[in-house]
Amino acid sequence: MKFLDEYRDAGLAQKFAAEIHRVTTKPWTIMEVCGGQTHAIVKFGIDELLPKQIELIHGPGCPVCVTPLEVIDQALEIAANPKVIFTSFGDMLRVPGSTTDLLAVKARGGDVRIVYSPLDAVKLAAQNPAREVVFFGVGFETTAPATAMAVYSAARKGLKNFSVLISHVLVPPAIEALMSSPNCRVQAFLAAGHVCAVMGYEEYFPLAIKYRVPIVVTGFEPLDILHGILLTVQQLEQGRAEVENQYARAVTRAGNQPAQDLVKKVFTVVPRKWRGIGEIPKSGLGLAEAYAAFDAEKKFGLTDHHVEEPAECIAGLILQGLKKPHDCSAFGTRCTPEHPFGATMVSSEGACAAYYRYRRYEPQNAI
Ligand code: SF4
Repeated sequence: MKFLDEYRDAGLAQKFAAEIHRVTTKPWTIMEVCGGQTHAIVKFGIDELLPKQIELIHGPGCPVCVTPLEVIDQALEIAANPKVIFTSFGDMLRVPGSTTDLLAVKARGGDVRIVYSPLDAVKLAAQNPAREVVFFGVGFETTAPATAMAVYSAARKGLKNFSVLISHVLVPPAIEALMSSPNCRVQAFLAAGHVCAVMGYEEYFPLAIKYRVPIVVTGFEPLDILHGILLTVQQLEQGRAEVENQYARAVTRAGNQPAQDLVKKVFTVVPRKWRGIGEIPKSGLGLAEAYAAFDAEKKFGLTDHHVEEPAECIAGLILQGLKKPHDCSAFGTRCTPEHPFGATMVSSEGACAAYYRYRRYEPQNAI
């Protein structure tokens, strides 16, 4: 398939792997900050092609995983309201809150609908003026522009029955939080290509300088990831800490300016809680004052409450690269994708779900 097969060529993968072996002389720990990359690494066994000295650890790059339980509970409360049509991307429907999930609310009669674009939710609001239509806006910088466009469009149409429950998060503040931790093991980052396709990679330069850490913007296909690792290891071995762009076919330094302008117009930067990690300053997006009328949290008078994660879940340590899924006593037994306990099992992009799916049950088989 065009644009797929050429990035999965086994012969080229072997060449990249051989070059990584050739340049590696010391142990290095590299974190990928993207659930899609984690999934590809485990699925294609990329880690198993690398020298033993190179450890890949999995960062907080799965947007479904880092959405706090409290926000899922808020979504469930709104979705159960008979006056509401609750709309969401499909991947949020099976994510459990503290007692149930959106699919169960739908089964009990809640009007929960999957949409493929937030603009579909705006259309629903225009078609159903007697109902409240709410869109569940979750994800990184990648999905934020589409949510922003929906709010902007609803405002221009003068829709009073549309709102958004927002849990958008930003990658650079999460990198800053990881690097500031005294327990940080990360020596280099593979930055998420799709986030940078929107935001560019200007924001990464101060981080690379401040923490002396190489950051390589990397794509998702096996050859992208192997190439990103090679560029990263070359920097580490040569004592460089620079920002490089492996994913030049999709990412420019400045990113998508119209998308960024729209995000700046509709949103403001706020502190945001990340599931499994806790609150990170300036790491989220909330609606700007001019669009506050579209804030579902305010419209429905939702109260902020605190929900405890299961005590045995070590997802927070996994998201910080301090543990691996098979270090968890519940992994694959009490905690599975059908009955997830914690952040990194709830989405197929989460590290626990990827390890479970591709049978990385034992440490010796793992990264
Ligand atoms: S296997 Fe389940 S309980 Fe264990 S860390 Fe992963 S999500 Fe948490």
